[in-house]
Amino acid sequence: MTREHAGARACIALGSNLGDPVRQVREAAHTLDALPASRRLAMSSLYVSAPLGGMAQPDYINAVAILRTHLPPLKLLRCLQEIETRQGRVRSGRRWEARTLDLDLLLYDDLRLRDTELTLPHPGLAQRNFVLYPLFEIAPDLDIPGVGALRELVSKSGMEGLRRMVHTHETQAS
Ligand code: AMP
Repeated sequence: MTREHAGARACIALGSNLGDPVRQVREAAHTLDALPASRRLAMSSLYVSAPLGGMAQPDYINAVAILRTHLPPLKLLRCLQEIETRQGRVRSGRRWEARTLDLDLLLYDDLRLRDTELTLPHPGLAQRNFVLYPLFEIAPDLDIPGVGALRELVSKSGMEGLRRMVHTHETQAS
């Protein structure tokens, strides 16, 4: 008996700290809904986080979405990069720059990959509370391949510099 493959579960981090970040993240979430051969399964709350790297720049708005997708991982990454470009991110090559929209592929099923263009799980995942907390909110029982239980990672990582946005009408990252 054959059964159609249900597709992979892809976890995607969304972040923005320029140009009305709440709107940027919401718009990106809608765009993810419209990706081909994919459907969004879950979306976390929005979180406000202090920028990494100690540079003076506005706070970030972060969230995580989960998709069910038939797109292969590299194709999905390119779709995410296209969304970033369309929403106005300028790639200057500098790290820690302020950005209109950043989309990272965190996980693609249990795939472990180290390619020039794509590393899975995303290498920053385990260290970033602004990714761990929103992911935990929508997938508390997740295991990160090669790393361990998400629950454990969250319990070890504090909420320093991070808060969940309670009022969805908040527009300023304050
Ligand atoms: P960043 O500017 O930090 O968003 O990094 C983007 C670069 O990281 C791109 O050149 C991607 O090809 C590469 N990259 C490697 N692994 C990933 C991943 N899991 N998700 C997003 N970008 C990735």
